[in-house]
Amino acid sequence: MAAQGSTSPGRLVAGVDLGGTKVLTIVQRDGAVLGTAKHPTPEGSADDVAATIADAVRAAATEGNVDGHDLTAVGVGTPGIVVDGVVSLSPNIASMHDPFDLGGAISKRLDGVPTHVDNDVTVATLGELHRGAGRAYSSFLLVAVGTGVGGGLVLDRRVWRGRGAAGEIGHMTVKPDGRRCGCGGKGHLESYAGRASMQGKAERLVAAGEHTVLFDLMAKHDRDRMTSGIIEKALKHGDHMTRHLMDRAVWALGIALASCQNLLDVEAVIVGGGLAERFGQPFVDRIAAETGKNLFGTDPPAMVPSGLGDLSGAVGAAELAATTA
Ligand SMILES: [Zn+2]
Repeated sequence: MAAQGSTSPGRLVAGVDLGGTKVLTIVQRDGAVLGTAKHPTPEGSADDVAATIADAVRAAATEGNVDGHDLTAVGVGTPGIVVDGVVSLSPNIASMHDPFDLGGAISKRLDGVPTHVDNDVTVATLGELHRGAGRAYSSFLLVAVGTGVGGGLVLDRRVWRGRGAAGEIGHMTVKPDGRRCGCGGKGHLESYAGRASMQGKAERLVAAGEHTVLFDLMAKHDRDRMTSGIIEKALKHGDHMTRHLMDRAVWALGIALASCQNLLDVEAVIVGGGLAERFGQPFVDRIAAETGKNLFGTDPPAMVPSGLGDLSGAVGAAELAATTA
């Protein structure tokens, strides 16, 4: 378990957000971002992923006009289950389905600099806690609405990890026997609010003869995935199916978040991920209204967008590096 606290003064650290499509890297000192780098995630072996991360760290150092040899630690946030730097069951990086010592492989390529690896949403939660929208609260729930739906929980200013698998809000059941989830279950939050599931639902509706501009827009903009940008364009076209899919996403988020709130009574819910970045406070307000319908208490939590947006993972990874002994 990572130690938590404020960043040690003067330590030069790197933070890496390893995503399914890109590796976003920053180099920072005292919380100030000095350099950044963005590389595509390689599709080859897990070793290729480690090599790309090491290259990205060096590139971010060069961009920040600092000597990469002065780095005191590297932090990495990755999808999947992480135990002592070993990653497994990564849902969108095929080469890391089987256990892989990512921390060790990166460290070896960077002259032995200590490398700390943790789950991507846990790391983003650390970022929001120390540098983002979570600074003002002693307890909050982070929900990241992206390709899937991830969650992070902070209680008394500490990230709650349970036995390692806490925060999986995306796999809470919102409708018994409902839509199939990527995990194999049915009726989970992610089945309605994750973009991958929304795209699957749209494909099934089109196969059943319904109309949408979604797939025309994807072809026109050369996208093979239903991105937040495509969803926004479809809504501007007045696309009925897209509006329906978004309504269902908000409905599902309202059920899951109210259930969490009824149990935990946290001070705030921070909404992050691609959809929240794209649609901002109006999207968050819709989720707050839907959550309110299902709340037991009379004092709803503050509901706010992520303070770090796209950078929360990289900033949180740098925080992990700076605060882990
Ligand atoms: Zn699931």
